[in-house]
Amino acid sequence: MQKIGFIGLGIMGKPMAKNLIKAGYPLIVYDIAPEKVSQLAGAGAQAASSSSEAARASEIIITMLPNSPEVKEAVLGGDGVLEGAKPGTILVDMSSIAPLVSKEVSKKAKDKGVVVLDAPVSGGEPKAVDGTLAIMVGGPQDAFDKVKDILAVMGDSVTRVGEIGSGNTTKLANQIIVALNIAAMSEAMVLATKSGVDPEKVYQAIRGGLAGSTVLDAKMPLALQGNFKPGFRIELHIKDLANALDTAHELGVSMPLSRAVMGIMQTLKAIGKGADDHGGIIQYYEKLAHVEVRK
Ligand code: NAD
Repeated sequence: MQKIGFIGLGIMGKPMAKNLIKAGYPLIVYDIAPEKVSQLAGAGAQAASSSSEAARASEIIITMLPNSPEVKEAVLGGDGVLEGAKPGTILVDMSSIAPLVSKEVSKKAKDKGVVVLDAPVSGGEPKAVDGTLAIMVGGPQDAFDKVKDILAVMGDSVTRVGEIGSGNTTKLANQIIVALNIAAMSEAMVLATKSGVDPEKVYQAIRGGLAGSTVLDAKMPLALQGNFKPGFRIELHIKDLANALDTAHELGVSMPLSRAVMGIMQTLKAIGKGADDHGGIIQYYEKLAHVEVRK
């Protein structure tokens, strides 16, 4: 089995790395937070003290980092992946970042003989734990064929959508749909509650109809408990919508609804709720309507 370097052991990276260990892959791991490296070492991984050390010891490298600047730092920066990686290494960046940055990193990696795939995921922490993420991949077919068994350990849907950058373009589409769905759920449920109707009954009544969705079933039970523990933080979703709006600007595409939800999320961040789960968007509507959608 190929040795895998895994960099970025946060909410998502940690369970994904654990699933690879469980599947029998030898893993060498790195995170800027040393306690996260120790936790994985306790679960059977080898500890590295830098991204370059993890890369030097592996054939495949996986990164699961917050955003474009962190990926650039960990891959292109001092003591980064490209300082350690041997020619022929495949770097699978599973972070959600700007598609343009995926292309830039891939170009620089190519000079060192390293092939990059952008392979962001959807599904959140529960699916990272279960190994049932949806993984959307951009990059060369032959590199994809070499890593798809590894990706299948972490996800139950692994789809190559095109060349480098297209994985992250697909992820932006995913994030627009999720953000707008949560906002729609929030708007509707605050109206129902303010009207005096039990929001749990509204949820049960509509979830089997056309308004039912994976988002509704994931987020409504948590909203009813007032549980906004992340999950997927509002500040990370702001990052994704910013990448989507930047891309739309470059391409001359109008996205009025994404812009509106971006404003809602930025307001929540400004009042100290940026680290809440994105299901916490409902709190914006609750505050304005002076009502809480609870059991
Ligand atoms: P996180 O902040 O929990 O984890 C990121 C980890 O990267 C942290 O442990 C941090 O210490 C580490 N890190 C930061 N800079 C580093 C560097 N230069 N070198 C090494 N390590 C570094 O974030 P997360 O929730 O795990 O998300 C990771 C990515 O997955 C993000 O792009 C996010 O948008 C995406 N994503 C998250 C979810 C979710 O539900 N959390 C779902 C789908 C996709």
